[in-house]
Amino acid sequence: MRILLLGPPGSGKGTQAKGLAEMLNIPHISTGDMLRQAIINQTALGQDAKRYMNQGVLLPDPLIIEMTQRRLSKQDCQSGWLLDGFPRTIVQAEALADAGIVIDYVIILEVPDVAVIHRLSQRRVHLASGRVYHLTYCPPREPGKDDETGEPLIHREDDYEPTIQKRLNVYHAQVTPLIEFYRSLSKQHGQPKTMSVNGDAPIEAVRDSVIQLIKQTG
Ligand code: ADP
Ligand code: AMP
Repeated sequence: MRILLLGPPGSGKGTQAKGLAEMLNIPHISTGDMLRQAIINQTALGQDAKRYMNQGVLLPDPLIIEMTQRRLSKQDCQSGWLLDGFPRTIVQAEALADAGIVIDYVIILEVPDVAVIHRLSQRRVHLASGRVYHLTYCPPREPGKDDETGEPLIHREDDYEPTIQKRLNVYHAQVTPLIEFYRSLSKQHGQPKTMSVNGDAPIEAVRDSVIQLIKQTG
């Protein structure tokens, strides 16, 4: 099962991916999480990534393509994966397709900008694991602390206005051609199955819709 989760920043990709990946027993591969890990580890890629991420713009395609292809070639990806945050551009999507990597499902989480802005301003994350919380909708058991490790939660530097708005602009500019790319692949090869889900609903309701869609079309 090879799944791509698409949707604006804050649409719930990471939140849904965690549960889905566990249920389907496939790795959740988030390029954003990988880059934040590279920043923590102070690698050369991390140093580069920080500049772009804090400005709310995308990293250059070759860097991201190399990082992701290396990850996808690992043993745990043999029976599938759930991609979150990649591909984001046509060049990235073409690189995957050119490498013979086939996607079974493209799931688009639809959430209006106004809801996303509210979600991101109250998002808190545990950097080491990628676990996400929301101060109102999904609060940690103890304020400011990760439920599993007790380590501090942070407010991402790109989760403040006006960087949120910039990231939304980047998303809207990139997503339409990306969806077109997958619809056209689907017409030619019958894959991937591309479907939209209303992501502007409670976390459990979104999860049930995604699972139902996969079952119906599987
Ligand atoms: P993405 O990975 O798409 O950027 P996240 O999964 O990190 O999005 O979710 C963004 C924020 O919104 C987090 O604070 C998360 O707890 C919260 N969230 C996720 N899904 C929902 C939902 N269905 N309803 C309300 N809040 C949500
Ligand atoms: P995310 O965690 O998915 O919201 O991503 C955070 C930031 O990481 C983005 O704003 C980009 O700067 C960078 N990033 C993550 N994935 C990609 C990608 N596929 N292409 C380019 N930049 C990316």
